[in-house]
Amino acid sequence: MTRKLRVSIDYGLCTGVGACEQVCPEVFMMNDEGLPDVLEREPHETLWAAVERAQEACPEEAVVLEWIEE
Ligand code: SF4
Repeated sequence: MTRKLRVSIDYGLCTGVGACEQVCPEVFMMNDEGLPDVLEREPHETLWAAVERAQEACPEEAVVLEWIEE
């Protein structure tokens, strides 16, 4: 069984603070609208710790992480 991490943004909560990009620019990139795009929806496990730090850094709890067992 493999484990995957799926990343998304709840745009209903996100206020465009940008902490996610500062903490993990490999996965989050602010776009022209001032909102983060997710560059890697299923990032490699070497990025998981940084993605979790980005989730903790988000003041709006808008970084959504879903663990998938396959
Ligand atoms: S840190 Fe949170 S509120 Fe700020 S841009 Fe990223 S997802 Fe949106």
